[in-house]
Amino acid sequence: MKTLAIRSARVIDGTGRTIERATVIIRGATIAAVGSDRDISIPRGAAKIDGRGLTLLPGLIDCHVHFCLGAEPDVVDAIAKETPALNLLKASRAARETLEAGFTTVRDVGSRDHSIFTLQQAIETGLVQGPRIVGAGLAICMVGGHARFIGQEVKGIKQVRSVVREQIAAGAGVIKVIASGGVLTPGTSPDQAQMTIEEIQAAVEEAQLAGRKVAAHAHGSSGMKNAIRAGVHSIEHATLMDEEAATLMKGHDVFMVPTLSALATTASCRLGCGVPDSARDKAKAMTKRHAVSFKNALRDGIQIAMGTDAGTPFNFHGENAQELERMVAFGMSPMQAILASTSSAARLIGIQDQVGTIEKGKLADLLLFEGNLLRHIEQLRDRDRIIGVMQAGRFVAGPLFR
Ligand SMILES: [Zn+2]
Repeated sequence: MKTLAIRSARVIDGTGRTIERATVIIRGATIAAVGSDRDISIPRGAAKIDGRGLTLLPGLIDCHVHFCLGAEPDVVDAIAKETPALNLLKASRAARETLEAGFTTVRDVGSRDHSIFTLQQAIETGLVQGPRIVGAGLAICMVGGHARFIGQEVKGIKQVRSVVREQIAAGAGVIKVIASGGVLTPGTSPDQAQMTIEEIQAAVEEAQLAGRKVAAHAHGSSGMKNAIRAGVHSIEHATLMDEEAATLMKGHDVFMVPTLSALATTASCRLGCGVPDSARDKAKAMTKRHAVSFKNALRDGIQIAMGTDAGTPFNFHGENAQELERMVAFGMSPMQAILASTSSAARLIGIQDQVGTIEKGKLADLLLFEGNLLRHIEQLRDRDRIIGVMQAGRFVAGPLFR
């Protein structure tokens, strides 16, 4: 088995610890050892990389992307005009761009059909390159509900149950439900709840029978509360979180996936940029409240996992690191932002035994990087600083791949 030693790097291991002048030994697909240079001896015959001046961190994880959306100004219109084959090709490119930015795992929380599972398979078998995908397939929404352009509309509890089973049968690793209106779907209001608590509960029950978690889209507090009481594992966006919703989230150990980039990129678009007026107006009206909700969650100790909602207007695949910058701008330390994008994200997705930290026995999903992220988190957006992106022990992007 091939052995590689990365020597004398600064290791941010994803547990909150930083080890200066550290050695990491990678054997085959997994991490065999990690520790300071003086404690780790390099096995005979191992290939060596001099990590002086470089930072090694776990491969980053984005808990909220849509590979079927291409960050067009009007994604609803764009997706309606594409054939399934063209859409899959587009998704494949999005996956590659995400990987090149250092993201080795994503959770795709809503695609317009089941081709996300085809892409996942293609990546797993090495046919194309991209992050590991934990996909939801179709988002589950009420009739006329938000996200129906990448979802399945359902009538009542019985249909919720069967649609959850359909997603799981097709390959879903997570179930996505829509618990409030949204920004991009015309005619839906983000502060109004969608689906009943009983319907969401039915989705949670079915998902749990198959060992899957449930992610709930919710901007407004009423939708958030329904979803939390129904037993979901994460609230996506959590834009207008009131005190009661915050208390419930904390009490139920529910993750917040803030997706600050989604509202920010849509809201900052100028008149005539092509984003439908309704979407731009809704995003603009909520950005300030979104920042407050994020800051309150941080203050209250609510678990936060990183997600961008990449694919939404001007929220480009491959620019996922902008979310860390936004989280730091709103009060996180760079280390907290890195944890939200590594070990916390892995915990939310339920793959913490495999990835998310640099520890012995974990898969070697790594990002080798030139710079000091603990001082300058914005460096993470600079592609030229990426020396190597490793997935399961193999470089898949960056100069070390070429
Ligand atoms: Zn989304």
